[in-house]
Amino acid sequence: MSDAIEAHLRETRRVSPPADFVQHARITDRSLHDEADADFTGFWHRRALEQISWYHEPTQSLDDSNAPFYRWFADGTLNLTYNCLDRHVDGGGGKKIAYTWIGEPGDERVITYAELLADVERAASALKAHGVGKGDRVAIYLGMVPELPIAMLACARIGAIHSVIFGGFAANALADRIQDATCRLVITGDGAWRRGSIIPLKDIVDEAVADCPSVEHVLVVKRTEQDVAWHDHDTWWHDAMAAAEPRCAPEVMNAEDVLFMLYTSGTTAKPKGIVHTSGGYLLGAMLSHQWIFDIQGNDVFWCTADCGWVTGHTYVVYGPLANHTTSIIYEGTPEHPTWERHWEIVHKHKVSIYYTAPTAIRALIKAGEAAVEKYDVSSLRLLGTVGEPINPEAWVWYHEHVGGGRCPIVDTWWQTETGSTVLSPLPGLSTTKPGSAIGPLPGMKPVIVDEQGNEVAIGGGGYLTLQRPWPSMLRTIWGDDQRYIDTYWSQYGPTVYFTGDGARTDADGDIWLLGRVDDVINVAGHRISTTEIESSLVGHPAVAEAAATGADDPIKGEMIAAFVILRDGNEPTEELRKDLSAHVAADIGKFARPGLLLFAPDLPKTRSGKIMRRLLKNIAEGKELGDATTLRDPSILLAIKEDADRQLGR
Ligand code: AMP
Repeated sequence: MSDAIEAHLRETRRVSPPADFVQHARITDRSLHDEADADFTGFWHRRALEQISWYHEPTQSLDDSNAPFYRWFADGTLNLTYNCLDRHVDGGGGKKIAYTWIGEPGDERVITYAELLADVERAASALKAHGVGKGDRVAIYLGMVPELPIAMLACARIGAIHSVIFGGFAANALADRIQDATCRLVITGDGAWRRGSIIPLKDIVDEAVADCPSVEHVLVVKRTEQDVAWHDHDTWWHDAMAAAEPRCAPEVMNAEDVLFMLYTSGTTAKPKGIVHTSGGYLLGAMLSHQWIFDIQGNDVFWCTADCGWVTGHTYVVYGPLANHTTSIIYEGTPEHPTWERHWEIVHKHKVSIYYTAPTAIRALIKAGEAAVEKYDVSSLRLLGTVGEPINPEAWVWYHEHVGGGRCPIVDTWWQTETGSTVLSPLPGLSTTKPGSAIGPLPGMKPVIVDEQGNEVAIGGGGYLTLQRPWPSMLRTIWGDDQRYIDTYWSQYGPTVYFTGDGARTDADGDIWLLGRVDDVINVAGHRISTTEIESSLVGHPAVAEAAATGADDPIKGEMIAAFVILRDGNEPTEELRKDLSAHVAADIGKFARPGLLLFAPDLPKTRSGKIMRRLLKNIAEGKELGDATTLRDPSILLAIKEDADRQLGR
């Protein structure tokens, strides 16, 4: 679709909440926003007392005495699993289905709340039997099997801190994360199904833990039945479960005790362990899940995210379970065995809320309407997107072909750091526009500012900041308080959180996200830093220098474009290109493989030696070169472009 049509859709398409939706919706007016704006700490405190089952109710709301190290509900005590499981089971809701899990090969497992509680208690006892206690770190490196949420919850039960590492990361990346958190135990699988083949998780863990002296035990979930090497520190998950005490009382945790850390890419090669604590995170997960998805008792909720990312933490595990919701978990990717898989699942399991990434929607569009039309998806009543800006064409297709024109779409903006959704339409209240995240959830205060930190006028664009602390905010970067301050709180002072995203408002004041303003690339909704790619490439013996940038991709939103200068004596062959690509995949993970790898005679640098990635992006996309006046040697740019055009046959 042309840019002009996209722009037309953006400007003209307005969808009001359908009357029959509004009739039953949880939120249809702005009274929560108003209450929060009048007194946001009181607002969150009242919600915390209403929503969470505390052992000791907090008397404090926000403690901002040591900003930006904010604390919430700091004298309260609770346990997340009590809130997610026991209280529902004790209240007679144990028979409700917590998860319908569907394996990639087609096998299924239905798990009720009572069954989930039993599994979590046993797994928690098993962790204890392996020496894991409160405050210890546990790495979880699994495919989307039921044991993944069970392992997360088992940690939360005993106060251990989980660090879930996406199953697509390679051994080096896994080892870096395990070492940074000095994890004591790793939970993995014999393998994970992915597009009909098996990712050898256990082999990757074996390679990684060889460099991780902190790891004492590895628990291995049997999933694919493939043979694996065995070491003294390995135990089968099922053996550990069989030997474990069936009951395990929840540990009493302080609201500010760490619940989990989750690594994400920053602007340097070293990933950041984003730290989330217990009480505030739970409140953000619960309320945002209720508000944006208008959760009702009989909903079947499907968030397609992997638990390796924050969306899986908040909207596969903690939010839905704390709200006693029935969820779907699908082990595989949407294209396997065919692009019909998601629609078949929606049809069979009568999914009512479907939440996915724009990348998946664009790929589903490519697969065609016929795939969705073959199934009855009329059970759907609400659709959501997350992870990257959604282009208007994809939004309209999603609305018409999946939502049958009747389902509101919530475009939810948030980050690993925010813990829960910050900007989103509310489906019973907001008039939506294709590509706009509309505005803040109650209690949040987004402000778009210019370089100096001044708020830009309505209709203008700039940097997105959040100017009021919120309960589910990150507390720090694991082991690096200074980096926490430098990354998020130094641009505009310790009370202004810098998101790293650009945004603008339209004439109505609605917010449109414009993508990252730092050196972070968003590939299919996954954050990767340009420096991570660059340092991997220069780790190859043939590479002298490398620069990576994001470039537009019709399906993934962005792809990685890498420019490589070879060391003397190396030839720019097709074979070397493949070798370099494979090197990045082996170093970081397949999802970080450059979509475009070009050999370059030089790199465009400013007089102070900074690589001008913006110009490289134009070259990768075949666009006009743009303003190159600040370059040390502008003629280099032309040489790179000619070389790139030749390699791309342009
Ligand atoms: P992550 O922490 O990996 O979830 O990535 C967060 C980043 O993804 C944000 O900083 C945004 O750049 C991007 N993002 C997430 N959701 C949206 C959305 N709805 N619209 C635009 N960008 C998004």
